[in-house]
Amino acid sequence: MTVQDQLQRPLRDLRISVTDRCNFRCQYCMPAEIFGPDFAFLPSDKILSFEEIERLVKIFVGLGVRKIRITGGEPLLRRDLPQLIARINAVEGVEDIALTTNGTLLKKHAQALADAGVKRVSISLDSLDEARFFEMNGNRGKVKTVLEGIEKAAEAGLLVKINMVVQKGVNDADIVEMAKFFKEKQHILRYIEYMDVGNSNGWKLNDVVGKKEIVDMINAVAPLEAIAPNYKGEVATRFGYKDGNGEIGVISSVTDSFCSTCSRARISAEGKLYTCLFATEGTDLRELLRSDKTDEEITTSIARVWQNRTDRYSDERTEETVNNRKKAKIEMSHIGG
Ligand code: SAM
Ligand code: SF4
Ligand code: SF4
Repeated sequence: MTVQDQLQRPLRDLRISVTDRCNFRCQYCMPAEIFGPDFAFLPSDKILSFEEIERLVKIFVGLGVRKIRITGGEPLLRRDLPQLIARINAVEGVEDIALTTNGTLLKKHAQALADAGVKRVSISLDSLDEARFFEMNGNRGKVKTVLEGIEKAAEAGLLVKINMVVQKGVNDADIVEMAKFFKEKQHILRYIEYMDVGNSNGWKLNDVVGKKEIVDMINAVAPLEAIAPNYKGEVATRFGYKDGNGEIGVISSVTDSFCSTCSRARISAEGKLYTCLFATEGTDLRELLRSDKTDEEITTSIARVWQNRTDRYSDERTEETVNNRKKAKIEMSHIGG
């Protein structure tokens, strides 16, 4: 069975957050003033177990999902994560398992993750400057550690991409430096426009450095040309270096949104299903999983949610829609980007 939403978009990708905790406090995601020592993270019995996640993956595959992305919080803080990956990898119909991580624990876990079935890993790194990076991640992590994690992931045979969130006046001075560094290292770097996810980061349109600006800056020192997407609905717009050596991507959720091809569902660590990154409400799958409902009944409930989906938040976003929003959005650290 496959399902389509109200805008004829199929359900193809599932992003699973395996923890709401993180060892970083990136200002744009989990600012330390809000996610402080007294912040109440989820207790372990409220978080989906590996069995529950595996059951959901089977159900979602039955509705058309082919790609799984594991995220968080910081997913590598979830104990025995490779065991979960191996379970997901064994589900018939899963074609691709990817992971998004801040990279700090990757040196230790890269090989086990690859052995368990992860194919691709997106590693977040916002600057190569130790002082700037430290400030951005809430004084928690070093560039050196992340770079070591990147090396280990590549050695383990994982396909590595680097994610850089660009904030005006914070790290936009690093755009070109990052491009040069990862061109040399032959890793694809993807620039992410700073988004108004959650309610904690005080987002303003003025803080966004748009796709055009980013590409122009790099193009001035290393000429670029647009290249075709790898597949329909690819989130990043691709640009190849004209010298034939490497490429970058830009995820332009703000200046050039891509809702019309969005086939992504998200499950938070406590088992809520969200049909958009900017959702205010989710569907409680944990309750269904812990009831006496059969797989068929849960499948029907999820299908109904997807069939009713009309989300196109980024297509409609303006500074007014952001500021006038009445309901609180779900935080990024809950559903993992
Ligand atoms: N902790 C992992 C990490 O940082 O890669 C996984 C979860 S994190 C929420 C997923 C991605 O969302 C990261 O690449 C992060 O940089 C990005 N992100 C977080 N807040 C964002 C924001 N306000 N705008 C754009 N991207 C953001
Ligand atoms: Fe943690 Fe990732 Fe959010 Fe940074 S972006 S605070 S590393 S979850
Ligand atoms: Fe998908 Fe929502 Fe992002 Fe649009 S705003 S691309 S619907 S997650």
